[in-house]
Amino acid sequence: MKFGGTSVADLERMRRVARLVAAEAEAGHEVAVVVSAMAGRTNELVAWTDAAGEATAGAPASDDEYDVVVASGEQVSAGLVAMILRNMGLCARSWLGWQVPILTDDAHGKARIEDVPPDKLLAALGAGEIPIVAGFQGVDRQGRLATLGRGAGDLSAVAVAAALKADRCDIYTDVDGVYTTDPRIEAKARRLAKISYEEMLEMASLGARVLQGRSVELAMNQRVPLRVLSSFAEPGQSDNAGTIVCDEEEIVEKRVVSGVAYSRDEAKISLFGLPDHPGVSSEIFGRLADANVNVDMIVQSHARQAGAANMEFTVGKRDAARTMDIVTAAKGAIGFEDVALDDNVAKVSVIGVGMRSHTGVAQTMFKALAERGVNIQVISTSEIKISVLIDVAYTELAVRALHAAYGLDKI
Ligand code: ASP
Ligand code: MG
Repeated sequence: MKFGGTSVADLERMRRVARLVAAEAEAGHEVAVVVSAMAGRTNELVAWTDAAGEATAGAPASDDEYDVVVASGEQVSAGLVAMILRNMGLCARSWLGWQVPILTDDAHGKARIEDVPPDKLLAALGAGEIPIVAGFQGVDRQGRLATLGRGAGDLSAVAVAAALKADRCDIYTDVDGVYTTDPRIEAKARRLAKISYEEMLEMASLGARVLQGRSVELAMNQRVPLRVLSSFAEPGQSDNAGTIVCDEEEIVEKRVVSGVAYSRDEAKISLFGLPDHPGVSSEIFGRLADANVNVDMIVQSHARQAGAANMEFTVGKRDAARTMDIVTAAKGAIGFEDVALDDNVAKVSVIGVGMRSHTGVAQTMFKALAERGVNIQVISTSEIKISVLIDVAYTELAVRALHAAYGLDKI
């Protein structure tokens, strides 16, 4: 059972969490719990490290000490939840990343989990204890604390579930499942009873924030069945069935499209009059990769005049200015005519494994957008998703139009 920041935001909510945990234990299940920091706490801690970095000679706080500071939020919630369970008469104890241990590499601030030896947790479970594991943190080979990246409490939970060979990993959160789209934009959004790992992975990476992308990837690779459900329900509440994330084969009712996702965190860079010869793309994206800029959509085509090409690509908004600097600095070396930035764009995507076997899915999307007068700037596709880049002002209109066009309000 994993509880995110809003689920452990205060003592009252922690008591509800404890009741949910107690109910599972009383039903005869062995449970391990993973908790996040209390809502807002990690942001607060990150701000402290920023301020400390400025205070010490203008250098950013070193990554290993950043981890020591920001991981402390999870330590507090693990201890408090364990205390509350003990006060209820249950046998519980907190486990920090290094105590489990959750072994990671030394990429501080975004460490990867290398191994989770299950012996100690299994022994605790065997002795009738409920382990409360601090999410988001692990320990590297040097014995230094390492954090796993923002939002990685979900990843900790899946890794622990996989190590324990758990029957299921329940992610308790502030919504009651995975929806066909963001209910704040489309009131007719429906909760999905089931969704495949692959669709969930696309949804997470295309803007849906209910689960962290890496955690879905790990669950898919390790075949850990996930369930997303509300922590605001009382134990046994029958309408809290949540959403099961599982293998495609386990989903009987096939849909062509399962969801519509969107992201406003996009910026489009257009390069005009590029020389059309081998090595040009490699030169541009090599420089961006060296600067750790994550590039998303890329479209390149020949221009009308011979020997010239145009290219458009997207990056996250916070990388836009830096990307423009890098590209502009390379103008002499690459030899293009002009570059332009547009950060008034949004990416809207439709996702569904049914696209593999159905035709006309893209046409439905383009028609729905055309009927609303929404202009498409860039299109990109994978086997199970179609994304379009549009003017950000049309985001909500586009999401609603697509939700209706695929009949998602009726599933
Ligand atoms: N507390 C961490 C964060 O806010 C990890 C998590 O909650 O998933 O990023
Ligand atoms: Mg979360």
